[in-house]
Amino acid sequence: MKVLVADDSKMARKMLIKIFSDCREGQEDEILQAQNGEEAVNLYKENTFDVVFLDLTMPIMDGFHALKLIKEFDSNAKVIVVSADIQQGSMSQVREDGAIDFVKKPISDVKMKQILEKIK
Ligand SMILES: [Mg+2]
Repeated sequence: MKVLVADDSKMARKMLIKIFSDCREGQEDEILQAQNGEEAVNLYKENTFDVVFLDLTMPIMDGFHALKLIKEFDSNAKVIVVSADIQQGSMSQVREDGAIDFVKKPISDVKMKQILEKIK
């Protein structure tokens, strides 16, 4: 699998990658990282990802904007929003904009497994 993890927090990226890798149990994956929405969009355009994990609150370009641009570029993009901001308004906005799931930070291994099932 080729995966993009976009979050301005290095720690958050590291934690998510650890849980992802644990759930994948030694399968061959390639994981790229972005520190903000702009980097995420640029990387998305240059690569083919199976899934994108996207934070919402990021500098330069936030996750809401990045989600829109990614879906504009590829309407089949599989984007999972992972955020501490679980306001109802944010959730419905990202669903409207095409995110396939909205996960509260930090993501649990149970939730990660559900997501991996969903995107198979
Ligand atoms: Mg953030």
